[in-house]
Amino acid sequence: MIELPDVERMIDAFAGYATGKTVSLVLIDDTETVDLDADQATAHIQGHAIDTVERRGKYVVLRFRSEVSLIFDMGSDGEVYLESQTAPPRETSKIRLQFAAGRELRFASSGTNGDVHLVEGADLSGFGLLNNLGLDPLSEELTPDRFIHMASQRTRSTLKGLLMNEEVVAGIGNEYADEICFQAGLRPDCKVGDLSDEQLARVQKYLRRVLRRATLHWQAAHSDPGWLINRRHPGHTCPRCTTELESMNVVGKRTYLCPRCQRAA
Ligand SMILES: [Zn+2]
Repeated sequence: MIELPDVERMIDAFAGYATGKTVSLVLIDDTETVDLDADQATAHIQGHAIDTVERRGKYVVLRFRSEVSLIFDMGSDGEVYLESQTAPPRETSKIRLQFAAGRELRFASSGTNGDVHLVEGADLSGFGLLNNLGLDPLSEELTPDRFIHMASQRTRSTLKGLLMNEEVVAGIGNEYADEICFQAGLRPDCKVGDLSDEQLARVQKYLRRVLRRATLHWQAAHSDPGWLINRRHPGHTCPRCTTELESMNVVGKRTYLCPRCQRAA
């Protein structure tokens, strides 16, 4: 499952190369799910340079100097990456943007809904998909007070459901939601309404800490013996107390937790 730190890593790998480069040719491989036709590609993308690359939640936004944006929805397994023009496209290839230098920026995803969108004009705020996104976990706007306030409107949700709700905080998926609950010492299936403000503030603190670390130091986080994310297998034990981890279904997702270190509320 693609989560915020994965999208940040992808962007890091191509933004430096692609920013400022002119797209010489657009190849649409999947006309069913790419919300862009050949005429639009010719008019707005071909012959135009990429101005900036941004992330919104789990969306990648390419802003062009022609004042249009291409928005890629990462879904569960989307990937934006650079590849040589001579390499055959993946079976799940959606769209390829060629540069004159012999490389392409490619987007592949097994998603079957619309997952590439063209937005005209500099203002993206009217675009529904982005409009409904909650706060970015890495943004300074996500203060303890804001988080507690949002939680107070969703008291019947589970803690994990709150963390994975894109309208509250954008970009957290299954694995990081479990990690945040583990680091905060709270069960993912506890009810938000049962948590005190102090406990919610602790969730907010670890939410930011976990995602910042996974974004800035992905390799270190993913080999940290103290992190639950590296032990998501049946029979594995808690990194802190060596109790066998419990696995259960929360909000329809396979969830791991330590029954000893994580409290109900
Ligand atoms: Zn434990």
